[in-house]
Amino acid sequence: MSQTLNIQNLHASVDGNEILKGLTLEVPKGEVHAIMGPNGSGKSTLSKVLAGHEDYEVSEGTVTMDGVDLLELEIDERSRAGLFLAFQYPHEIPGVTNANFLRAALQARLPKGEEIDAVAFYKDMYAQMDSLSMDRKFTGRAVNDGFSGGEKKRNEILQMMMLDPSYAILDETDSGLDIDALKIVAEGVNRMRSPERGFLVITHYQRLLDYIVPDVVHVLFDGQIIKTGGKELALELEEKGYDWVTQELAPA
Ligand code: ADP
Ligand code: MG
Repeated sequence: MSQTLNIQNLHASVDGNEILKGLTLEVPKGEVHAIMGPNGSGKSTLSKVLAGHEDYEVSEGTVTMDGVDLLELEIDERSRAGLFLAFQYPHEIPGVTNANFLRAALQARLPKGEEIDAVAFYKDMYAQMDSLSMDRKFTGRAVNDGFSGGEKKRNEILQMMMLDPSYAILDETDSGLDIDALKIVAEGVNRMRSPERGFLVITHYQRLLDYIVPDVVHVLFDGQIIKTGGKELALELEEKGYDWVTQELAPA
């Protein structure tokens, strides 16, 4: 079984508009791939399609995760199969505390009849929160409810740490973070790098990739990956913008 997140010729639309137009990308376990691209190129669409957002319709292509057909799975099944998405715009869930939310998510991963060990759960959660410099009072607050932009992004990373996914997609986790918070979040991600895990780090800016150094950088433009390179590609994009890549595509 191939240990990889494999996206082939993916076409997806929302409200009848095709946004992903034949996107092909493979993230093997153990690697960190970055996706960069101008606003509106389809980065968040890709992350939502992978997570199984119901507004998005896949018309063509395949996505497999360690050989399993991801597109056949419901949202919760994708999560339990090991996929995680940190949202660009995290949702607020009034009335559900952070601790209860995380506990329920972890409980849902256990076999029927097995109960989560509450002591171990709190111990783990506090340790992860400490590593993210998150105040413990956030355990008792409703998920993201009234959190600042940066607090929401940190909370997404806390979820990722607790859920321990096989593949993690981070959609512009850097936006809304000041430089100190960005470093803390990046350190957290770097600690989670492992041969057992793949990362898809989506970002508009090169800055994040100074701290989370990717193995591979892809450029997404108009619903397709139009260029792939090493980490130096991110620097080149920062310096020259996206125009030179799109001009390479234009017929002479
Ligand atoms: P990115 O994350 O790269 O900035 P998105 O994936 O959010 O881009 O959006 C890609 C394109 O899809 C944009 O042009 C956006 O306007 C369009 N889009 C997103 N949602 C909808 C929708 N519900 N209806 C029509 N177009 C949409
Ligand atoms: Mg986006």
